Amino acid sequence: MTYNIKIFGIVQGVGFRPFIKNLADTFFIFGSVANKGSYVEIFAQGSEKNLEKFLREIPKKSPPRSAILKLDAKKISEEKIFSDFKIIESVHEKGDIFVSPDIAICEKCSEELFDKNNRRYLHPFINCTACGPRLTILENMPYDRERTSMKNFPMCKNCSEEYFDKNSRRFDAQPICCNDCGPKLKLGIGNKDLGISDAEIIKRVRKIIFDGGIVAIKGIGGFHLACDAKNFSAVKKLRENKFRPQKPFAVMFKNISSVEKYCHLSENEKKFLDSPQKPIILLQKKFPEKIVENVAPKINKLGAMLPYTPLHMLIFDFPDEIKNFPDALVMTSGNPSGVPISIDDDEVKNIFDFCDEILTHDRKILLRADDSVMNFYKNFPLMIRRSRGYSPLPIFIEKSKKISVLAIGGELKNTFALAKNNLIYSSPYIGDAENLQTVEILEKSVERLSDLLEIFPEKIICDKHPRYQTSRLAEKISVEKNIPLEKIQHHYAHILSNLAENNFFGEVIGVSFDGTGYGDDGKIWGGEFFICDAKNYRRVDSISKFIQAGGDKSSVECWRNSLAMIKNFDTEIAKKLNFADEKEISAQKFLLEKNLNCIESTSCGRLFDAVAAVLGICKKNSYEGEAAMKLQSCAENFSEKVEVKNIFSTQELFEKILSMRLDGAEKEFLAKYFHEGLAEIIFEKVLKISEREKIFTVALSGGVFQNIFLLDSVIKKLERKNFKILLNKMIPANDGGICIGQAFFAIQ
Ligand code: ZN
Ligand code: ZN
Ligand code: FE
Repeated sequence: MTYNIKIFGIVQGVGFRPFIKNLADTFFIFGSVANKGSYVEIFAQGSEKNLEKFLREIPKKSPPRSAILKLDAKKISEEKIFSDFKIIESVHEKGDIFVSPDIAICEKCSEELFDKNNRRYLHPFINCTACGPRLTILENMPYDRERTSMKNFPMCKNCSEEYFDKNSRRFDAQPICCNDCGPKLKLGIGNKDLGISDAEIIKRVRKIIFDGGIVAIKGIGGFHLACDAKNFSAVKKLRENKFRPQKPFAVMFKNISSVEKYCHLSENEKKFLDSPQKPIILLQKKFPEKIVENVAPKINKLGAMLPYTPLHMLIFDFPDEIKNFPDALVMTSGNPSGVPISIDDDEVKNIFDFCDEILTHDRKILLRADDSVMNFYKNFPLMIRRSRGYSPLPIFIEKSKKISVLAIGGELKNTFALAKNNLIYSSPYIGDAENLQTVEILEKSVERLSDLLEIFPEKIICDKHPRYQTSRLAEKISVEKNIPLEKIQHHYAHILSNLAENNFFGEVIGVSFDGTGYGDDGKIWGGEFFICDAKNYRRVDSISKFIQAGGDKSSVECWRNSLAMIKNFDTEIAKKLNFADEKEISAQKFLLEKNLNCIESTSCGRLFDAVAAVLGICKKNSYEGEAAMKLQSCAENFSEKVEVKNIFSTQELFEKILSMRLDGAEKEFLAKYFHEGLAEIIFEKVLKISEREKIFTVALSGGVFQNIFLLDSVIKKLERKNFKILLNKMIPANDGGICIGQAFFAIQ
């Protein structure tokens, strides 16, 4: 009897074909397995009983990194008699494509890495069928060595034997290599220092970091800038070099026990931290502060991750003279601010001045992928940046039109998405597209990923903002390729991203709170209440309007929004609170009174800014969301219960906080008062809408809901009234999720 079996999902680059061959051999099944680009096809010939067992075992025993989405098995009348079970050459066929994300080094490989008797002892590129780079080295599907950046490294005799040996852990492992045939490390760019051994290079890098220096290190999806996280002056120097005075840096810890020395770690957080994706997780810092405070100033959490490449492990643990090498390194994206992470020696020139040395190598990165970042709420993760390890895993949409779509995303924290059939694939993190270099990279990445996934859009979606660079790029592609373009309102797209993730097609009350987005009335939105579903939306309420005056300055200098919310723009109060010098305050008042360079706004982000300035927590944002993050941390530091009742508008809430502040109330209390008050306002508004419209499902989205302190308070209130609550979990609630919302809309 013969079966034809097709398996869809992540079945490439995860040891699936060798697994199938081994399983077939176990059950005396003859036939073949082939990689078809979008699926794996099996011909299986054997006794009925054995075939049944074979089929049953496939999903049960499939390799740990694989994910079977669909398994089709058909009996066929096959005349050909097979005499063995073969893995046959990849043949490319059309269909839904599943590209494996990059996978962190596995346990077995890390053991071999430090095993003196292993022939890959200290090999910086050790990998196997279950681990190693995938998406970032892939040129084209199907996933085979000659279509990856490993094609430049012909296998040595030993590697080739392992590659063809079905009993080897590296049977059919495309990036297989060793000290004899693999990529080589290099110090610096150009031809400097050629010919130094990998071991000598790692020793030198360790010495530089140990002595307080900064090194750019090429990783999986781009360069990091690394330094000792416990060395105050090293971190300070990195901040100065990168022009990044306050924004938190992520820290890579040597292992779980070093994480636990500095951070609180729940079982679930541990599970994700140590998962094959190895994301950055925001963990509660342990006090007293052991990691220097300027790694993440005035924020209660620290972005932590574990080593995920053999090179990282070697840097922490190389057998050399340095015995007390730091167990925590700052690992921040290697790029000038606003520009995407550098991936090659040419781009790394831009950060040449930021560091003391560059550690690079000759395995090309073909698609850039920053580290993914997530936070935890109760027991589940909330994605902040979905990138390495997760992208381009598609999300499955139950109902969908058969149309191929490019959704270009938002402007800040840009990622884009491609959709086909029932699948939406989101790209790795691209970055802030205000910068033209980022837009260029975005355009190239769109082409790369659509080639890779074979999605050639019949429709493009972008944001309604007329001045977004991403919208301009979408317009350009639309004209050049003659593809229709549709624009979607920003805050509606946030809610759509939530509906997409939850596969929810009914009507909801959408609460969309963020920093800024272009409203349908041409004003700035950012604290909006909608009645909407996957196809239509209606704005039914918002937070109190105020005036943003002074253009871009008003989204950077928090106090300008405070003044706008103070009655009569009273400059005496502004002076008392030390907002700025007298001249600047009067100039701002002048703009507000004369309605010059003014725009009406309902931005919740700016409301956070205004309150933070009143409390003296942050007068000027040096990075997006700084005031809000510090305000949240400040609120968390007030341990007593605070209840806020009978406040119905954010303007009222602001005024109340202002007057309490002027009366000398402490800032921790007021920060908490603000959060509780805002939660109460959101709750009251939702309740009113729900009573009127008879809708009992609430979807919360937008960057403001990354604030877990606020989120928790809102959820508790809504739960008490039995609302069904939909959240963004694995799709970011911030602008990184916009593309998913846009794509979801287009396929409805
Ligand atoms: Zn491995
Ligand atoms: Zn080799
Ligand atoms: Fe937004």
